Amino acid sequence: MKINCLGACQEVGRSGFLVSENNSNVLLDYGLLFDDNNKLMYPVKPQEKVDACILSHAHLDHSGFIPNIFASGKPKLVLTEPTLKLAELLWADSLKIARLNGERPPFFEQDMQKASDSSIIAGYGKEADLGKTTSTTLLDAGHIPGSSMAYIDFGSKTLLYTGDFNTSDSRLQTGASSEMPGDVDVLIVESTYCNREHEPREKVEKHFLEKIAETLENGGVAMVPAFAVGRAQEILQVISDRDFGVPVYLDGMAKDASDIIVSYPGFIRDYDGLQSALQECIWIENERERKRIKKEPYIVVTTAGMLSGGPIYHYLWANRKNNDSKILLTGYQVPGTPGERLMREGVIDIRNTELAVKQEVIKFDFSSHAGKKEIFSFVKDVNPENIVCVHGDKENTIGFATRLKEKGFNAVAPKLKDILKF
Ligand SMILES: [Zn+2]
Ligand SMILES: [Zn+2]
Repeated sequence: MKINCLGACQEVGRSGFLVSENNSNVLLDYGLLFDDNNKLMYPVKPQEKVDACILSHAHLDHSGFIPNIFASGKPKLVLTEPTLKLAELLWADSLKIARLNGERPPFFEQDMQKASDSSIIAGYGKEADLGKTTSTTLLDAGHIPGSSMAYIDFGSKTLLYTGDFNTSDSRLQTGASSEMPGDVDVLIVESTYCNREHEPREKVEKHFLEKIAETLENGGVAMVPAFAVGRAQEILQVISDRDFGVPVYLDGMAKDASDIIVSYPGFIRDYDGLQSALQECIWIENERERKRIKKEPYIVVTTAGMLSGGPIYHYLWANRKNNDSKILLTGYQVPGTPGERLMREGVIDIRNTELAVKQEVIKFDFSSHAGKKEIFSFVKDVNPENIVCVHGDKENTIGFATRLKEKGFNAVAPKLKDILKF
């Protein structure tokens, strides 16, 4: 088996691996990376003809460059239905943003269309044919709705690609299981939090709800930036646990993502809970509705999660003079993003001015990735012959491979463009 490392090697982002075995070339994910200066980085181009692509989930660091493959070929694209619908939403959005910024788009409408037309919808636990002697079984990764790990049987050797995964339950999702359809010769495993434990979810939720209550009691507005896919819906479910007696608004692309997610009940852990959380909040449809919101305490969940755009800017501006308001960040803030800068320097660029934010800014660890303990016990349960540590920074992936070797596994943390042979 040969693995071409096209991205996500000693870095988080632009995932891409071309696995060649038994005359089959299978591409696993093909995503984008924004570096520390917010510059867009593409994955390496595969040198061989791609027979099939598997997309683990819709996040742009895994899906963002997939349509580009279809500009010059027409392989099969295997994925779950929510992943396809969410990826189509994010692809269209990145095309729109590129055009607005006057940048060359990473792909064109016709490439997106070809990708959609080539898709083969797979359900969890069911084998999908990839041609020749190769087949794949997608397994629930527990990361975002529709997310999968891919178990691939090449007829000669087997491989498991985790994509991003979480073995713990969240409001939205049941955690991933380590039960496999068969033995695993090669495991490609994400390493995002191989070095760190997460705070228990109940503790994070309790702290988050307390901070909202405190904000509202003081007459402030609770502004909750959230990622459109998965996080916004989870946060609304957490908020719906308590009756705060104030309006809860949902705004931005999180609405489109919610529309898609709520149409796949089979992919949601507590479907009734999600449905009622989405019904209880008020969907802000346009600028006019946004401007009509009264200057009284309220909660707003909106995009972008790292403040890289979106209606959150309307709320930050409208409430800038209310120092009792709070900004409650609900996910990791990539270095170089406005959200990370806000945490570090307490400023944000808004309406061509640098606004010094006097309101409290708090970040909550609502992670959808397995923590250190979970990753190690997952690897132990799967018990593969070989392990490839990816999707983590340099120090993390190398440290992870070293610790796995100490435990008797055959492990490696490849660099970009490495070609691994097993
Ligand atoms: Zn992800
Ligand atoms: Zn990722």
